[in-house]
Order: sequence, then structure tokens, then C-alpha cells
Amino acid sequence: MENYQDLLNKQRNYFRGGKTKDVQFRIDTLNKLKDLIHTNELAILSAVKQDLNKSELEAKRAEVGLVLAEIDFTLEHLESWAETKEVPTAASHEGAQSFIKPEPYGSVLVIAPWNYPFQLAVSPLVGAIAGGNTAVLKPSELTPNTSAILSSIFNDHFPEEYLHVIEGEVETSTALLKEDFDYIFFTGSTGVGKIVAEAAAKHLTPMTLELGGKSPTIVHEDANLDEAALRIARGKFANAGQTCVAPDYLLVHSSVKETLLDKLKASITAAYGENIVENPYFGHVVSERHFDRLVDFLNNGTIAAGGQSDRSQLIIEPTILDNISWDDPVMQDEIFGPILPVIAYDDPAAIIDEIVKRPKPLALYLFSEDENFQDEILNTISFGGGAINDTISHMTSHYLPFGGVGASGMGAYHGKASFDTFTHFKSILKRTNK
Ligand code: NAD
Repeated sequence: MENYQDLLNKQRNYFRGGKTKDVQFRIDTLNKLKDLIHTNELAILSAVKQDLNKSELEAKRAEVGLVLAEIDFTLEHLESWAETKEVPTAASHEGAQSFIKPEPYGSVLVIAPWNYPFQLAVSPLVGAIAGGNTAVLKPSELTPNTSAILSSIFNDHFPEEYLHVIEGEVETSTALLKEDFDYIFFTGSTGVGKIVAEAAAKHLTPMTLELGGKSPTIVHEDANLDEAALRIARGKFANAGQTCVAPDYLLVHSSVKETLLDKLKASITAAYGENIVENPYFGHVVSERHFDRLVDFLNNGTIAAGGQSDRSQLIIEPTILDNISWDDPVMQDEIFGPILPVIAYDDPAAIIDEIVKRPKPLALYLFSEDENFQDEILNTISFGGGAINDTISHMTSHYLPFGGVGASGMGAYHGKASFDTFTHFKSILKRTNK
């Protein structure tokens, strides 16, 4: 197993030199990164196309566009975020001054997943750079073309003692996790999140865990069904369902189930055409292992839409599984593919009970006009974040910290939350000697 101590020592020495703490240096780095993304945009789009058959439109928006927007927002606010801020001093310390000085942690490790292989690798790095840290990035081995572009963007244009990409498989992560980094930012599955947390505990390294889980989508009897169908189809089947905040399963009031399912089918056809296996723009499942796992779910319940698949192309049609029960295999773990199980309900209290019995979801979506019901859901169920009358859109707002809770993660990022995540806030009380 490779030893990354030398690299970490180089990064520590570089950090101690103080360059990364200079706010202008951070701004220059973010501008340079932005230019590099623009220059390499075609190569990035082509890499994610090769890795996941992500269409150019989707990749422009969800991979490159979101990262550029994150950089722009950060550049707009960084100087004020990084300022030392004076705060009131307690009466017991009259005459003294109190202030909070934001300071970088030092050298951070970012481990990224494959489903948005560019965005989920670079977006945390924007926060790490803004905070004034050095960083090592380990992208996913399952999207090798994107990982290679990441390597060339960073390793050809920044010194390794500042920003460095290390490509590799699980052993590489394991070796990196043995080192005493000052912060770890991990995005991936809940199972691997536990391994990361255990490794971090050995050095008491602070960390953010951006994990997954089963995100419920509730459609109540009073929902606007046209909009619900469109927005659920869009959130669920983008990237072939391989989105951490995708609606995992649908809970629909039995009085509107048939109508909603008809509208969902129409939305799928409108978005992807009649023959998805032939559609060159529909995303692929990332690997044969993932494909086989997903195809096994197709015999749960009854197929209300889709159900076709093609292993040679790793394509599974957007599929709706009706008549599902909470005990079915498809309801046990995060699906992470284009399969939507449906459970009908009559009593909202019963679905709340079922959701709160399970691990806390990363996201929850509710379609209802009834503000009392909206409040009831928000007040009784713990989940990372979500949307009312929409899906997945909360994760693109700079003003909404994005993260999970419990089994779906700890910590948050995006916008100011990214700067805060990669920053230690040092509290100082300064007394006079008079
Ligand atoms: P994963 O946990 O398998 O892998 C993530 C990263 O961890 C990869 O770089 C991988 O090489 C590394 N890794 C894998 N096994 C490891 C081990 N035993 N020790 C150390 N490192 C290891 O996740 P994935 O399959 O790449 O991504 C899918 C999961 O990520 C889903 O659960 C999804 O919900 C979640 N996810 C969460 C978010 C979020 O922002 N919360 C975003 C995207 C994906």
C-alpha cells in the first residue's frame, strides 16, 4: 500500500508558509480554476459522456454549471466571509474585546463518488480553497475518464503541495485515510461513510460526511398532480436515477394514485421518448454490478411503466413499480437507479410512522397545498433537506446549506456553508492590562 506521508508533509510545509491564508491568493486560485474549467469544458463533457452517457445538456448544467456558479458566488462574498469579526463582550469582562477569526484547518482530504464525478469532486474543493486550505482529492475509480481530467486540471496547473489529485481504488482511499489530515470531506455511501468516520476517529480529524439514503416523496390528495408528475419524473430519472437526492420511493394518497401514475408515465414519455433503450441521451447505469442489483428489483410489485433493460448498454428504462410493500427488497436500501416504487396510503399518520422508524433520509419531498400538512411533515420527520412541491432543487441554492443528518450524513456545504465547513472559527478574548 502506498504511503502518502511525504505528500502530506509537503502540503503541511506549504500551508505553514502562509500563502494559502492570503485572501487574494485564494481569489486568484478560484479565478484560475474557473478559467481551467472553461478551457477544459469540452473535455469534461466528453469524459462524463464516456463514463455515464450523461447528455451534454445535463452535464453542462449539473457538472460544470453548478461548479462555476459556486465559484462565482464564493468570489463575490469571500472577502467578507474571511474577515475577523468583532462580537460583543460579556459584562463580566468589561473593557476587553472579543472577536472571531476564521482560519483554515490546514490540509484537507476530499473523497468523491462517481455519480456527478466532476461536480462532487470540485465543489468541495472550491470550499477548501476558499477556506485557505491545501487539498488532496481522491476521485472515484468508477468514472476513470472524468478522474483523468480532474488529474490533468489540477496536477498540471497547481503544485502538489497545494492541490493534488490522486486517482485510485479503495486501497488508495484506505492509505490516504491512514494519514493525519486536518479535515476530511467524504461524499459516498453510508456504509463507506462509517469506514471513513472510523479512520477519522483515530486522529480525531473533523469531517463532513455527505451520504445517501432512501428519500421519500409524498403526494397528498390535494396536490397539483400535473406539476407533481413533471417534477418527480425530472428529479427521479435525471442521471438514470443515480442522484443522491433523487426521490427514492413514492408515497401517494390512494385517492389520486391512478391519476398520478398516468401523468408520471406521460411525463416520462415526454422527457425521454417511447423507446428509452434506443435513446442516446438517457444515462447509463455505472457498472454491470450496479445494473444486476437494480434489475433484481424489477420483480418487486407490479410494473406500471417501463421495465425493459439492456445489459450490453447498461440501460434500464425509467420504471414505476406499483403495489409495493414496506417489506419488499426494493424498500430496504437506497435504490440509486431509474426505478420508482410506489406505496399508496390513506392515513398520513401511518406513513409518518413508517418513515421515522427508518434511517433519517437525505431528502424528503412533499406535494401538497395544505400548509397544516406541510408543517406536520416538517415538524415530525427528521431529514437532511428537501422541497415542498418540487424535487432536488434545494441542492442548487447557494443560500441553503446542503447535507444529511444521522445515517444520511453530518455537516453541510454550498455557498457560505462551504466556507464555514472548511474553516475553524477561532474565538479570542483580548484583555487590557489596565
Ligand atoms: P462509495 O461510498 O462506494 O464510494 C465513494 C468513494 O469512496 C469513492 O472514491 C471510493 O473509491 C471510496 N471508497 C469506496 N469504498 C471504500 C472503502 N472501503 N474505504 C475507503 N474508501 C472507499 O459511493 P459511490 O458508489 O461512489 O456513490 C454512491 C453513494 O454516494 C450513494 O449512496 C449516494 O447517495 C451517495 N452520494 C451522496 C451525495 C451527497 O451529497 N450526500 C452525493 C452523491 C452520492
